[in-house]
Amino acid sequence: MRRTGIEFNRHDYEYDVYSLVKAFIPEEEVVSFYSGESPAGEFDRLLRVEYGDDRILCVIEEQGRETLREQVKLTCPEDRFATKNLLKQTVYRMFSGLTGRTLPWGTLTGIRPTKLAMHPLEEGRSREEIAANLRETYFLSEKKTDLAIDIAVRERKILEGMDYENGYSLYVGIPFCPSICLYCSFGSHPLKKWRKRVDEYLDCLVRELDFTAGHFSDKKLQTVYIGGGTPTSLTAAQLDRVLETVATRFPMDEVREFTVEAGRPDTITEEKLAVIRRYPVSRISINPQTMNQETLDLVGRGHTVQEIVEAFHMARDLGFDNINMDLIVGLPGEGYGEVAHTLEQIRALGPDSLTVHSLALKRATRLHLFRDQYQEISFANSQEIMSLCEQTAAEMGMSPYYLYRQKNMAGNFENVGYAKVDKAGIYNILIMEEKQSIIACGAGGSTKFVLDRGNRIERVENVKSVEHYLARIDEMIERKRAGKEKS
Ligand code: SF4
Repeated sequence: MRRTGIEFNRHDYEYDVYSLVKAFIPEEEVVSFYSGESPAGEFDRLLRVEYGDDRILCVIEEQGRETLREQVKLTCPEDRFATKNLLKQTVYRMFSGLTGRTLPWGTLTGIRPTKLAMHPLEEGRSREEIAANLRETYFLSEKKTDLAIDIAVRERKILEGMDYENGYSLYVGIPFCPSICLYCSFGSHPLKKWRKRVDEYLDCLVRELDFTAGHFSDKKLQTVYIGGGTPTSLTAAQLDRVLETVATRFPMDEVREFTVEAGRPDTITEEKLAVIRRYPVSRISINPQTMNQETLDLVGRGHTVQEIVEAFHMARDLGFDNINMDLIVGLPGEGYGEVAHTLEQIRALGPDSLTVHSLALKRATRLHLFRDQYQEISFANSQEIMSLCEQTAAEMGMSPYYLYRQKNMAGNFENVGYAKVDKAGIYNILIMEEKQSIIACGAGGSTKFVLDRGNRIERVENVKSVEHYLARIDEMIERKRAGKEKS
């Protein structure tokens, strides 16, 4: 594997530059270090990044010989935002020239590109002005510029009437799954090992929910999301307990959306769906990820394509009129043909919304190890695949309504949520645009207090491990209390 080193003279922006370089050369190993350090091994290419009082200097050396140099004058060095942008623009130009590649999202390495369109929209700027800024400052492609602005416009409309100051959303985490998928980065716990302690977990969760309901009773609950893990991996009685706690302890009269992420079809039964129907749940998600059996087996999903179809029809028959389906593109061994097959099967089912994720190869996943072991299996994603998803969603009457990116995504693309009119997931937008506080209960829950109209965010994390959550539930509750006081 080719190696590229990045040598920095200062401890700023290292991660931004590293992510940008990695996006240009995902197939290479990229190592960053600081001047004076001696990283192990040789580099095929070295990027030296120097910036100081009045200039940015970037130099590329290959086989010890300087091949490219760019220097940019800093007119306002104390403006960190401008310095970072100029630095990323410089690195972008150099690597684009070197590799002959362009990146659809330009210099953007963050996960919330629509925020860059949302803010100026709120300030009343025109579409043309916003588009010009996205293209000139961040080098976004025309397609991604349009996508970011379209989504921001749609999000604003969907969020109309939400109370950002006095409203909040509730997340409830059920961190168990029947088996752990190869690509899982959520830290879910296998039921086989944890089954005996699920009730103990629910005891703690109910305590945390009780506290939250009381402590935030001065605020208006507006959306609820029960996610995981796989909430339907609970038994019908356990699921009933969670839903009953939420529906009776919290005021439901202002709730605009209540989602249960049913998730894995192998956990969905008529009995559990009937339990969900007894509560004011407005939206569920049944997640195939792919409709190709071979891939499902390969990534350890542990269910069949037939089970997906049956779970979907069962939910429709029981009256669920807002069903989301999640797909992943870039799964091992899948290319255009496999994704096209999945999309045709999904079209035949006719969900109300579709969320298309680009596979993110996170280091902490088993898939990362798998890729190293099975290098002959491809992990492909392309603009053609993304466009096919977009086109199929449009043919199903859906428009893109939220978008986010992750690090190490296959092909450096994005995750996009598509929905039919009035079927968009409001919670999804809130979490991405950081407009409203989200109080999260359960292991791995990450509470976000959104303050000063979104200009300040305070986070309160729950521990991820169920073991620690059970042992430290008082501390989790205390953290929430302290977080609210601080905010
Ligand atoms: S269903 Fe989701 S949360 Fe559960 S193991 Fe698979 S990826 Fe992880």
